[in-house]
Amino acid sequence: MQHPKNSYDFLISGSGFAGSIAALCLNHAGYSVCLVEKGKHPRFAIGESSTPIADMILRKLAENYDLPGLRKLSRYGSWQANYPGVTCGLKRGFSYYKHFKNKRFTSDKHHVHELLVAASVDDENSDTQWYRPDTDALFVQMAKDAGIEYLDHTEIKSIKKRSANSWSIEATTRGHEMHLKSAFIIDATGSPDFSARFFGTTSSADGFRTSSRAIYSHFRDVAAWNSFLVENGFRTDDYPYNPDHSALHHLLEPGWMWMLRFNDALTSAGLVLDGADKNNHSAHEEWASIISDYPSLEKMFNNATLADPPNRLKKTGRLQRKLNTMHGDGWAALHHTAGFVDPLHSTGIAHSLAGVEKLVSILIATEHGEPARQKKLQQYEAAFFKELELIDLLVSGCYRSRQHFKLFTAYTILYFICSISYEQLRLGGTIPETFLNAEEPDLFHIVEEYHGRLHDLWNGTHAPSEIEISQFIEHVKKAINPFNSAGLMDPGKKNMYQHTAVEM
Ligand SMILES: Cc1cc2nc3c(=O)[nH]c(=O)nc-3n(C[C@H](O)[C@H](O)[C@H](O)COP(=O)(O)OP(=O)(O)OC[C@H]3O[C@@H](n4cnc5c(N)ncnc54)[C@H](O)[C@@H]3O)c2cc1C
Repeated sequence: MQHPKNSYDFLISGSGFAGSIAALCLNHAGYSVCLVEKGKHPRFAIGESSTPIADMILRKLAENYDLPGLRKLSRYGSWQANYPGVTCGLKRGFSYYKHFKNKRFTSDKHHVHELLVAASVDDENSDTQWYRPDTDALFVQMAKDAGIEYLDHTEIKSIKKRSANSWSIEATTRGHEMHLKSAFIIDATGSPDFSARFFGTTSSADGFRTSSRAIYSHFRDVAAWNSFLVENGFRTDDYPYNPDHSALHHLLEPGWMWMLRFNDALTSAGLVLDGADKNNHSAHEEWASIISDYPSLEKMFNNATLADPPNRLKKTGRLQRKLNTMHGDGWAALHHTAGFVDPLHSTGIAHSLAGVEKLVSILIATEHGEPARQKKLQQYEAAFFKELELIDLLVSGCYRSRQHFKLFTAYTILYFICSISYEQLRLGGTIPETFLNAEEPDLFHIVEEYHGRLHDLWNGTHAPSEIEISQFIEHVKKAINPFNSAGLMDPGKKNMYQHTAVEM
C-alpha cells in the first residue's frame, strides 16, 4: 500500500518498549506507523524485571507478527546467545527477606524470614532483568530496521480532528516544524500528561488502596546478598537458585527495597515507601537515613557508588494513578500510560506487554468499523480497570501484612496463584481476557475476601495473635486449593518453592 508522505495509519507517541513493540506488530500487519519520541535513545528508564508471563507474551507476539527478535529476548539463554551486547540480568525467581529495624538480618533453618519462589527451571530458560537503556534502544532499532518512521527529539504541539478518520498533527522535530496526519493515535508515553493535554482525560489516585512512593537509582558494586548469607552462616543449600539472580525484595518497616542485578556489576535498587512523604527530605537524606536503620542492607551498599545514568537518586510522588478513560474517537492509551499500582511482584513489564498484545489485536480486527472498535476498546478499558483493581488488592495486602512475615507469605501466595492460573490458560492455548486472570470470579473473590480478612485481622488497633495468624493461613490454604497446582503453602517446603515454574 502506498502512503502519502507524512500520512500514517497509526501515530504512536512514546518509544518505550511498549510503543516500539506495538509499532513493530502493526507494521508487520501491513499498516504504516510513525513512532514519535520526545527524547532520544539510549535513555535511563526504570521498570526492569521480566516474568514468565512477559516472556510468554513476547513469544506469542513473535509468532503472530513474525518478529523472531522478540522470541530470542524471551529467555536468558537465547538473549545471551543472540544479543550479548544488550545488557540484562538473570532472574530465576522472586525472593523476599524480612528485616527488622536496627537489627542484623536473622532467620533460621526453617527460613522463617525468607521466601523464595522459582519462576524458571534453569538459567537457560530463565526470565531476565531488562537494562532499559539498552533494551528500549534495541526495540527502537528493530522498528527503524523494519522501515518504521521514527522521529526522536520531537514534540507534538497540537492534534486536531480533520475528518472522521484523520488527525492533523503539528510537531517540532529537532527544531523544525512538521505536519503529520494519522488515522489513529496510540498514547504510549507512559504518563498521563499527553492524553490530558490532547484528549482531555484526567488522572487520579482515587480509589487505590495502595499508597506508595519510591526512591531509586542504579548502582555499581553493591555487595552480593548471597555472599552475605553464606558468610554469616545462613542456610542456603536448599535454595532453588542464587537469590542475587532473582528479583530481591527486602521488607522493611517503612516499606521495602528492590534489588535487581544486571550482568556488568550494575544493580538497580529502590526503596518503595508506604504512605505519603511527610518530611520532605531530599532523596539522598531519606535514602541514607533508611539504609542506616538496616545494618545488613547498609553493609551491601558500603562500597556502592551511583551509576551513570542516572548518576543520582530519583524520588517520586505517589505512584498510584489511573486515567478516567483510556480511549476515545480515534485514539487509545497503552497500559502504563493509563495507570500503575506499584513495583511489588514486578507486574509492570508483563502488564504493559499484555496491553500491547490486546490493543494491537483490537485495532487490526476492527480496521473498518468505528462502532465495533469503540465497543472493543470499551472492553479493553473495563478489563484494564479490573486488572488494576486486582493488582491493587494483591499489593496493598502485602503492604498491610509485611510486618508479620508469616502473614505476608500467605498473602503473597495469592499473587503467585493468579500468575500461575494465567500462565496455565496461555499454555493451554487460550489468551486470557484479563491480565492475571482478573476476571475469573472465583479467583478475584478469594483475593478480595482475604484482603478484607487481613484488614479485620490487622486494623491498626491490635496486633493479631499467633492463633489468628495460623487460622488466616489455614483458610487461605483451603481457599486456593482448586488453583494450587504448584503445591504452594506446603509447610514441608519451608518457604522454598523449587517447582512452581511451568515448562514453557
Ligand atoms: C518506580 C517504578 C518501578 C518499577 N519497577 C518495575 C519492575 O521491577 N518490573 C516491572 O515489570 N515493571 C516495573 N515498573 C513499571 C515499568 O516502569 C513500566 O511497565 C514500563 O516502563 C512501561 O513501559 P512503556 O514503554 O509503556 O513506558 P515508558 O517506559 O514510560 O516509555 C514511555 C516513552 O515515551 C516517551 N514520552 C513521554 N512523553 C512523551 C511525549 N509527550 N511525546 C513523545 N514521547 C514521549 C518517554 O520519553 C519514553 O521514552 C516500575 C515502575 C515504576 C514507576
